[in-house]
Amino acid sequence: YVHEMGRVYRDEDGSPVRMLCIVHDTTERTILDRAKNEFVSTVSHELRTPLTSIKGSLGLIKSGNIGELPDKLMSMLNIAYNNSDRLVLLINDILDMEKIEAGKMDFNMCPMIVASLLAEAIEANKGYADEHDVTFKCIDCDEDLQVNGDRDRLMQALANIMSNAAKFSGEGGQVELSLKRHDGMVRIAVRDYGEGIPEAFRDTIFDKFTQADSSDTRQSGGTGLGLSITRLIAERHNGNVCFDTEIGEGTTFYIDLPELRVATRVSQPKVKGQSRILICEDENDIATLLEMMLTEAGYSTRTARTAAQARQMLAQGD
Ligand code: ADP
Repeated sequence: YVHEMGRVYRDEDGSPVRMLCIVHDTTERTILDRAKNEFVSTVSHELRTPLTSIKGSLGLIKSGNIGELPDKLMSMLNIAYNNSDRLVLLINDILDMEKIEAGKMDFNMCPMIVASLLAEAIEANKGYADEHDVTFKCIDCDEDLQVNGDRDRLMQALANIMSNAAKFSGEGGQVELSLKRHDGMVRIAVRDYGEGIPEAFRDTIFDKFTQADSSDTRQSGGTGLGLSITRLIAERHNGNVCFDTEIGEGTTFYIDLPELRVATRVSQPKVKGQSRILICEDENDIATLLEMMLTEAGYSTRTARTAAQARQMLAQGD
């Protein structure tokens, strides 16, 4: 019976109100969940290094810099490269997801001008836009808005949403980014004019491994983890992610972040024009690949095998 102030609580008809409480013991499920997470994490870690080196080597061969390749071989190589790329994406998404959920991912928060973040994201995702024959455009961006955030993680969140917008826009489509103040937050909007999100799928879109089309024959790749990661990243910034969508009209995803109000504008970190890169990598194959790729891209590199060695090298030179 439900009691209130020592008396049995009765409903309108005078019958005693009863409450039934069922308690499930979830100890076993928690233990199993932990074991599963540890397994997935270990396997993913072990897979990442060899996979990265397979993808990197294939990429180098494909670039033609090591030698000319016959056309037939090139098409097989493209298949191998694209599939290794998908595997690397999947593994990285699983590891990121797990790290953020376990609170193990460091967020290096610093003040930033959001408009410059968007410009950088457009530049960084240009390859993706070209691949889908889509253009990213910044419209209506308030240049003064600032947030306190982790630049790399926010770039990752934007890349997820922008790549979805590109993937689900038709060929020749335009994806528009805008930035304004909304309900006391900074609102980044990414609008596409694509197919829209089916109604039945909207409630579960942020769940892990969910895709509207999960058939084996689906056209667009992806892991179904992008939006879960994006939401976790936004939440770690005390922000949020939501969307508006209409079938046949398109979709707008919003990332809302708390505004940073400061009197002086922050200066932006210098990202371009650096020509020397210090690589810190203990895995020999990966280090060699990185050296080759960066050298090819016009950088001069030095490699440290340990963090201590990297610190020593940094102390010796700029
Ligand atoms: P992924 O893109 O890796 O499959 P996400 O979590 O980023 O995973 O997205 C999950 C699913 O949500 C997509 O597979 C797609 O079905 C749907 N979706 C996301 N963004 C859009 C969009 N802009 N337009 C239409 N559908 C979308």
